[in-house]
Amino acid sequence: MSDLDWVRGVAHELIRVHLDASWSFDFDHAKKRAGLCNYTERRITVSRYLAQRHSDHEVHQTLLHEVAHAMAGHAEGHGPEWRRIAREIGYVGGATHHGEVAAEFARWVGSCPNGHEFLRFRRPSSRTASCARCSRRFDRRYLITWRERTEAERLAS
Ligand SMILES: [Zn+2]
Ligand SMILES: [Zn+2]
Repeated sequence: MSDLDWVRGVAHELIRVHLDASWSFDFDHAKKRAGLCNYTERRITVSRYLAQRHSDHEVHQTLLHEVAHAMAGHAEGHGPEWRRIAREIGYVGGATHHGEVAAEFARWVGSCPNGHEFLRFRRPSSRTASCARCSRRFDRRYLITWRERTEAERLAS
């Protein structure tokens, strides 16, 4: 997990180096997306919830992803110019949608016999979990099997 003061410090440093004083940083309360670039308010935000669960590397990458958006501009989206800038400032992740930034960091994928998929950031503690979508109660027929995703799979998510 990342220390929130550390995250704030890194964010301010990135803004100072790559953007200007019209940009600010704050935490937000999102649970499913790691970061956001608000072009109107000129503010970069990171999920307090996910920052406390992600590694320093992951949070740093989230910040780089969003800073690259601020540098490239809203219209660019995840286009070639955004990708060029993102790579240049050190982003190594994929060009994912904001809502899926968190997914690219998920190392573990589990699937049940009926093909429901589950992403986890850490190695799942229980080896014998059953699919909650197939059955609300534990059911051996719907055991989830976990495997580590390849880097290519994560970048494609
Ligand atoms: Zn993005
Ligand atoms: Zn299932």
